Amino acid sequence: MRSIDKNDHIYDYIIAGAGASGLSLLWNMLQSDKLRSKSILLVDLNFTPVNDKTWCFWDNSNIPFEELIYHTWSNLEVSALSNSMNEDLSRYKYYCIRSVDYSEKILSLAEKSGNVTLMESKIYDFKTDENLGVIATDYGNFKAKHIFQSALKPPGLQKEKLDISLKQHFLGWEIETRKNLFDPDKAIFMDFDISQSNGLSFFYSLPFSKTKALIEYTIFSSDVLTDEQYEFELIKYLKTKFNLESNDYSIIRREKGVIPMEDRRYPFMYCNYVYNMGTAGGLTKPTTGYTFTRIQKHSREIVNALEKETAIPKQRASTYRFRIYDIMLLSILDQQDDISVQIFHDLFKHNSFDRILQFLEEGTHLGQELKIFSTLPYTPFFKSIWKMKHRIFTGA
Ligand SMILES: Cc1cc2nc3c(=O)[nH]c(=O)nc-3n(C[C@H](O)[C@H](O)[C@H](O)COP(=O)(O)OP(=O)(O)OC[C@H]3O[C@@H](n4cnc5c(N)ncnc54)[C@H](O)[C@@H]3O)c2cc1C
Repeated sequence: MRSIDKNDHIYDYIIAGAGASGLSLLWNMLQSDKLRSKSILLVDLNFTPVNDKTWCFWDNSNIPFEELIYHTWSNLEVSALSNSMNEDLSRYKYYCIRSVDYSEKILSLAEKSGNVTLMESKIYDFKTDENLGVIATDYGNFKAKHIFQSALKPPGLQKEKLDISLKQHFLGWEIETRKNLFDPDKAIFMDFDISQSNGLSFFYSLPFSKTKALIEYTIFSSDVLTDEQYEFELIKYLKTKFNLESNDYSIIRREKGVIPMEDRRYPFMYCNYVYNMGTAGGLTKPTTGYTFTRIQKHSREIVNALEKETAIPKQRASTYRFRIYDIMLLSILDQQDDISVQIFHDLFKHNSFDRILQFLEEGTHLGQELKIFSTLPYTPFFKSIWKMKHRIFTGA
């Protein structure tokens, strides 16, 4: 690790934000024979790894750090309309990485390398100065030909077309029970058989052992709840689903978050020479909130471009076809809570879980997608096509 030299204001690359996307990019740079000796400035408010996020995903083809996988499930369960459906996955598995392990691993590699400078500072803004990007920090301004940022919302965001702005918001507890209760091989992916009074809501449950699991209450709606409201539902669920009273378990960790579910496109650049990544780069799939796999793919694409000295590819998180599907489903989620549970029910009832995950990962072809749609109620989709026609027929 290099120390901060105030006279050394120009770096080859600056990575602003050391979360999932910043560290993924850094990791890919450090793996590259061509890039690993470049001077890199990594800036974040804080570099102390925290156990505050579990990133789950099912397509591991873009995940370079398999040794970081904390747990794997091969069976998923979905419940809706009092129907419980579960399946052994064959094409995929459901994986989880803890943010604490991810940060520890990549930051320790950065510290060992001679060319990465770690700077703990607030990031205030970015601008362009002739042919360089500039980052404003507590230690002054620093420049690079390429700045990759995941810390600030891009300024052009407000100008992008926006019809639907929902949030995926959640609060979960990792609990330890006194008795063996969970099957560590089986995750509850979505359980809609709960009260829907706060908006489209479901629980998921990720067991890490027979006595430890992360149980999370998730809602798709416009307004977040108070902690007491999430916790009220958590306590109720632990009682009804697992027959757990408060003295049967201890809470060992809390996880809380809000993920945007919006139909707007995110600008590719913050300003010249400053590229957006991660959530700030619009990589979140609007209908599911899944971002982690896309982040890994995007970092690889950036590093390939830097190695070849070609232009940084404009990330298009989804093709037009999948954007249309997302816009249609978002419009249904926004308008018709009651039918949304029916759609999830029919989706999982009539299609294999592997195919659904492949579809959510945007890896299916049109024929497979039409087959999936044929199992869902048509009317809400026709209504959403009508409602969103101004987007669908103008490039989305
Ligand atoms: C609790 C939680 C669980 C999630 N689980 C999943 C999941 O299971 N699967 C999935 O695919 N996606 C998941 N997501 C969505 C997404 O993958 C994560 O949000 C992911 O962390 C996004 O990566 P990022 O790099 O864009 O942002 P972050 O990981 O949030 O990184 C941004 C970094 O910028 C820093 N920063 C911000 N502002 C400043 C500033 N002004 N100055 C300096 N530094 C700053 C922050 O400290 C942070 O380190 C989850 C999100 C949350 C919140």
